[in-house]
Amino acid sequence: MAKRDYYDVLGVSKNAEQAEIKSAYRKLAIKYHPDKNPNNKEAEEKFKEAAEAYEVLSNPEKRQRYDRFGHAGNSASGGYGGGGMNMEDIFSNFGDIFGGGNPFESFFGGGQSRGGRRVVKGTNLRIKVKLTLEEIAKGVEKKIKVNKQVVCKTCDGSGAKDRSSTSTCRTCGGTGSVRRVTNTILGQMQTTSTCPTCNGEGVEITAKCTTCHGEGLVRGEETISINIPAGVSEGMQLSMSGKGNAAPRGGVPGDLIILIEEIPHEILKRDGNNVIYDLYISFVDAALGASIEIPTIDGKAKIKIDPGTQGGKILRLKGKGVPEVNSYHKGDQLIYVNVWTPKALSQIEREQLEKLRESPNFKPQPGKNEKSFFERVKEFFE
Ligand SMILES: [Zn+2]
Ligand SMILES: [Zn+2]
Repeated sequence: MAKRDYYDVLGVSKNAEQAEIKSAYRKLAIKYHPDKNPNNKEAEEKFKEAAEAYEVLSNPEKRQRYDRFGHAGNSASGGYGGGGMNMEDIFSNFGDIFGGGNPFESFFGGGQSRGGRRVVKGTNLRIKVKLTLEEIAKGVEKKIKVNKQVVCKTCDGSGAKDRSSTSTCRTCGGTGSVRRVTNTILGQMQTTSTCPTCNGEGVEITAKCTTCHGEGLVRGEETISINIPAGVSEGMQLSMSGKGNAAPRGGVPGDLIILIEEIPHEILKRDGNNVIYDLYISFVDAALGASIEIPTIDGKAKIKIDPGTQGGKILRLKGKGVPEVNSYHKGDQLIYVNVWTPKALSQIEREQLEKLRESPNFKPQPGKNEKSFFERVKEFFE
C-alpha cells in the first residue's frame, strides 16, 4: 500500500505551525492508543502512521526534506527514520508530547508491559562487505571479524563489582518504577514510569566493576559468519538481528547491518541479472565459423560461432547470469560479437586481401535476413 502523505495523516495543512502539528498528533495518539483499542490492528497501524508522520514533520530538517522529496527523501541512508519506529520508540517520545511521562501507563491500566523494567537494547553495528561477481552469482558465506561491544565477562554485564556491591534502589525502593502526579491534557493523573536511577531493575550499584567501569560492556571481537544470498547488489543492506553491539544488564543486543559492495569484475560486466561479455573474433573466424572459449561466472565455456556471423550479433547463454535474490529466476550471459578488423598487415597479408577484395563474396550484401542494430538490441532487452 502506498504511503499516505504525512500532512494528510495528521490532518494539517502544508504550512501548519509546529504547535498545530503537535496538537494534531496528540489527538490522534489518544484516539488510536493501543490501550484504548486493544487487539485492534487497524488502530495500531493508524497509531504508528501518526507517530511516523509526527516524527518527520516535527523535525524542521526532516520536514524540509519531506517537502522537497516526499517519501522518496526517506532513502536507505540518512532517511527520516520514521518508518522503522517500533512501539517502544513511540512511547519513549511521549514525554515530549504529553509533558512528562506517558499518561496512558496507569490511566488506561494496560501499561504493565511498558512500566517497570525497560529492556535495554544494544546499538546497531554497520559493516561493509565486498563481494566479487562470482560470489554474488553463487551466494557466499563470509566469516568476518567485527570489533564491537561485548558483555563484560568480569561482571557478566551487571556493571557491579561483585554480588555484594548492589543494594536496593533508593529512588524507587526496589519496585523499579516511580509514581508521580502530573497535569496532562487528560486532566490530573497519577503516572507510573520506569525508575530513572536503576532503569527499572530495582537495584543500585554501590561499587562498579573495575573492568568495564560499571558499563557492563567492553570492546571485543567476534567472528561472525554471514550467509549472503546469491543475487545481492551494490548498496543492498542485509540485517542480522542480535549480532550488533551487546546490551548491558541482560538486555538484547542490537542488529548487525551489512552493506553490500561489488568488486567490479575484470572482464565481465553485470547488468541487472545479466552478465555481459564483449567478444572479439577475427573476420576469418566470422567467415569460416569457429569454436571459441569464453569466460563465464562459472569458469570457461565453449561457444560456437556460425560461418558467416556478422559483427554486432548478440549470443545468449541462458541461465549463466546472476540469480534474483530469493528466487529461482536467473539472468543470462549475453555475448556481444565484435568482428576484429586487423589494424596492421604484412606485405603478404596485404596482397592476399587485395585479391579477395574483388571477390563478389566479399562485397557487403545485407539482405532482409540481417537484423538491424536496433532490432537486435530490442530483442534482447525487452
Ligand atoms: Zn530504582
Ligand atoms: Zn564489568
